[in-house]
Amino acid sequence: MSDLIPPEPGAWALLLLLLSPAVGSFLALLVDRLPRGESVIWPGSQCRSCAAPLRSRDLLPILSFALNRGRCRHCGAAIPPWHLYMELAALGLALLALALGGPPLTIGLTALLLWLLLALAACDLLWFRLPDGLNATLVLAALTWAGLIQSGLIPPPPHPLLPHTLGEALLGGGLGVALFWGIRIAYHQLRQRAGLGLGDVKLMGGLGALIGVWLLPHLMLLAALMALSGAVIGALRQGRALKASRALPFGTALCTVAALIWLLARLPH
Ligand SMILES: [Zn+2]
Repeated sequence: MSDLIPPEPGAWALLLLLLSPAVGSFLALLVDRLPRGESVIWPGSQCRSCAAPLRSRDLLPILSFALNRGRCRHCGAAIPPWHLYMELAALGLALLALALGGPPLTIGLTALLLWLLLALAACDLLWFRLPDGLNATLVLAALTWAGLIQSGLIPPPPHPLLPHTLGEALLGGGLGVALFWGIRIAYHQLRQRAGLGLGDVKLMGGLGALIGVWLLPHLMLLAALMALSGAVIGALRQGRALKASRALPFGTALCTVAALIWLLARLPH
């Protein structure tokens, strides 16, 4: 019978925190490989510069980066610091999920959804790509979240505008995709060039399912403002003119704002 007794609440919270930097390390691998169309399974982790396979002492999240001073042990090539940032961010998001509270299933899924948004945001920021695999996983996770709320397995969010049923999540995702699809076509007609990537259209499926129909206008407006201010700051810092043709990581802004809306709407009020 002893294995039927759930573990102490502190035990799995500690496990989540201990695992999260390793999750961040895996997310960094996804962000490094998925946009280039490379396999995420084979070969195992290796140096981008000399292809030396990474051993267990190179794969300790956060610690290895500090011990090797951010360089490959074999060839001395610098490891891009965003690998470390991903590990730290994954830990921070796990802390945030724990701080929001709830039963273990709620906290685990919250962390998973935030990690997915982190990986998508990083892919778009670094490569201007939103890989289909990550977009599809986000849709699945957001629908699972709504389905579990509907079936009473996790408590409903306090905010009435967040999806409380699978149907509401599907509606949010569907409308998100339809809106962005429409904007993409309209922009193409007006300017005769692509303004909104297909990845952004697919991303809206997952984000719409997560935050629901009624918060979509907030998401679009705030993400557009964030992307524009990012572009203005970037242009000012580099002393160049603001060009409409310059690509913006709009997906990063969408993921960031969606995460903020979703987290704020889940605070008790
Ligand atoms: Zn190397």
